[in-house]
Amino acid sequence: MIPKKIKVESGALVILWSGGMENSIKLTNLRYNCPCALCAEQKEKEGNSYIPIYNEKEISIADMKTIGSYALGITWRDGHNTGIYNYELLYTLASDGKN
Ligand SMILES: [Zn+2]
Repeated sequence: MIPKKIKVESGALVILWSGGMENSIKLTNLRYNCPCALCAEQKEKEGNSYIPIYNEKEISIADMKTIGSYALGITWRDGHNTGIYNYELLYTLASDGKN
């Protein structure tokens, strides 16, 4: 699935897919699932005791850009910009029912 349109609305990333379906991912969920090595390492280090505590800047998007034809790069307002979300991950997050 390829996104046709992506926008931020009421604290969520709303994606219109090439197939015509539209769904969304809460920004808190998006940030929690940041696929970068830094975030993965922190989650792994803290294991079960990992509690996501976010301030406003960490769950606000400052900028987005597509990367090649397969991913979306997100810059959060706290400056975190190493997360590259491939479309497969976005589709999984948007479909997992946690939103
Ligand atoms: Zn990250």
